[in-house]
Amino acid sequence: MRIEADVAIVGSGFAGSLAALALRRRGRRVVLVERGRHPRFVIGESSTPLANLLIEELADKYDLPQVRPFSKWGTWQRSRPDVAGGLKRGFTFYFHRPASAFEDDDGHARQLMVAASPHDEIGDTHWYRPDFDLNLVREAESAGAICLDETTIDRVAFDVARASLHGTRHGTSIEIDAGFVVDASGPRGFLARALNLDAPPLRWLPPTQGIYTHFENVVRWDSLDAGQPFQGRPYPPDDAALHHVFPGGWIWVLRFNNGITSAGAALVMGPPEGGHYDGWNNLLKSLPSVREQFANARPVQPWMHAAPLAFRTTQVCGANWALLPSAAGVIDPLLSTGFPLTLLGIHRLLDVLETTSPGAGRDAALREYERVTLAELDATERLVAALYASMDDVPLFKRLTLLYFAAASYSEAARRLGRPDLAPGFLLHAHPVFGRDLHACCEQALAKPRGRAHDDLCAHIDSAIEPFDVAGLLDRSRADWYPARGEDLMASAWKLQATAEDIDALLERCGFANRFPVAQAFRAHSTSV
Ligand SMILES: Cc1cc2nc3c(=O)[nH]c(=O)nc-3n(C[C@H](O)[C@H](O)[C@H](O)COP(=O)(O)OP(=O)(O)OC[C@H]3O[C@@H](n4cnc5c(N)ncnc54)[C@H](O)[C@@H]3O)c2cc1C
Repeated sequence: MRIEADVAIVGSGFAGSLAALALRRRGRRVVLVERGRHPRFVIGESSTPLANLLIEELADKYDLPQVRPFSKWGTWQRSRPDVAGGLKRGFTFYFHRPASAFEDDDGHARQLMVAASPHDEIGDTHWYRPDFDLNLVREAESAGAICLDETTIDRVAFDVARASLHGTRHGTSIEIDAGFVVDASGPRGFLARALNLDAPPLRWLPPTQGIYTHFENVVRWDSLDAGQPFQGRPYPPDDAALHHVFPGGWIWVLRFNNGITSAGAALVMGPPEGGHYDGWNNLLKSLPSVREQFANARPVQPWMHAAPLAFRTTQVCGANWALLPSAAGVIDPLLSTGFPLTLLGIHRLLDVLETTSPGAGRDAALREYERVTLAELDATERLVAALYASMDDVPLFKRLTLLYFAAASYSEAARRLGRPDLAPGFLLHAHPVFGRDLHACCEQALAKPRGRAHDDLCAHIDSAIEPFDVAGLLDRSRADWYPARGEDLMASAWKLQATAEDIDALLERCGFANRFPVAQAFRAHSTSV
């Protein structure tokens, strides 16, 4: 079989299929090559407001109305109930002491809840990837992409203008001649191996490993005694990315609406602990409240073990090939950064392919794509490494996460106001002020400060956040339970160079105002201000 294509995409996860769909809308001939077969179990499930906004932007820019409903829980449930998913109202953290049942005080010293949405309708989601990815690859095929599953590519060669890929599918030899190759095959993927790309150890994050699977019969944390009291909480803590954090690692629990729960642990690598299954059980022995949550849980997929969990290449593209960010690196799922990084990369790479032709212009654009991709992975790694260094220091861990939440909520609001220029770089890392402070705070946290240095760092984080805080993150009276309130955005309009009317319209567009008439209530207040 011989196939001529403008773009060959290797890997039909959500990223490969989305890129294929967008390219087809621009009339490109696309071949999408997958070594496995859908539906298949794959990890990486929890989305964020920025990821969802990027899905919306992609859907609008490339006229993909079939993709847009997946950006919010409500539209997803109404339009595609056949695709399983989970409701994610925010990020929930519980901080455990090893070998002790979970306990907390009225000030929530050992928890943190940050809402991303004011109600379920516009909530974020967990993507049940077997369904989600199958749906997208079918859409790509309907849009005219040639989709080859169960295909092994064993040779790739690049010359100045073209790429040729040779492989086999069900015993038939396949030759693909393409103008450009997009590697969407995930970490340690196709081109990382075929081109033997350099992938040195990470710089700031200690070596970590991941153990994970899908379960049934995981009880809700809020149904356990350990989960009480929850009066006044900003959302049900299980309708979220639920994190159980402890010194040396953390566990994620993501519930889908089909009875399946995704759970696993990311752990700083220590001495080997026997089999993977034993590893999980041993871990739960030291976390009695989490063990209670999993008392009747049963894995419904094989255990997966990723060691090391993180991966980074130093090269991201060549003259006629590029890795998506998810193929160039995976840091850690702690802050659900994989989807937004990947989606930002898809936007950037599609722009390169659309606005340049092979030659000097494209080379320069690809170099810029590589620079930004690596810088975003660096910023993510630095923050996640700072968090790992603080897992035994709950107050500092919580403070550091606020850097993430401040950057994420500010960036989302700026983009939704049509002012992406206010929020340069993922996590605002390229912002001249916030980026510098983010860098400095992470470096200080990595040094594990104590005493005065610890207090200074907390004060530094607060002052870094303040000009960008549009979510009331510095309001200590909330005792680490942060609801998503239109009022906070309205009161911070000036930080976004916006008027009260701008914010009013934004809240209306985003569905805040429909359920909570905060805009009207605050219009009078802010116009008088
Ligand atoms: C443990 C863990 C948990 C994570 N959790 C989150 C999370 O909660 N939120 C978040 O935002 N991000 C998370 N991530 C990151 C997330 O997994 C990725 O961002 C996301 O999966 C990227 O999607 P993708 O389509 O690019 O790649 P993948 O989902 O990895 O899909 C790659 C596809 O390529 C195929 N493939 C691989 N090699 C080849 C080959 N040689 N030839 C042909 N096909 C090939 C594979 O079969 C697969 O179908 C997590 C990562 C890990 C490791």
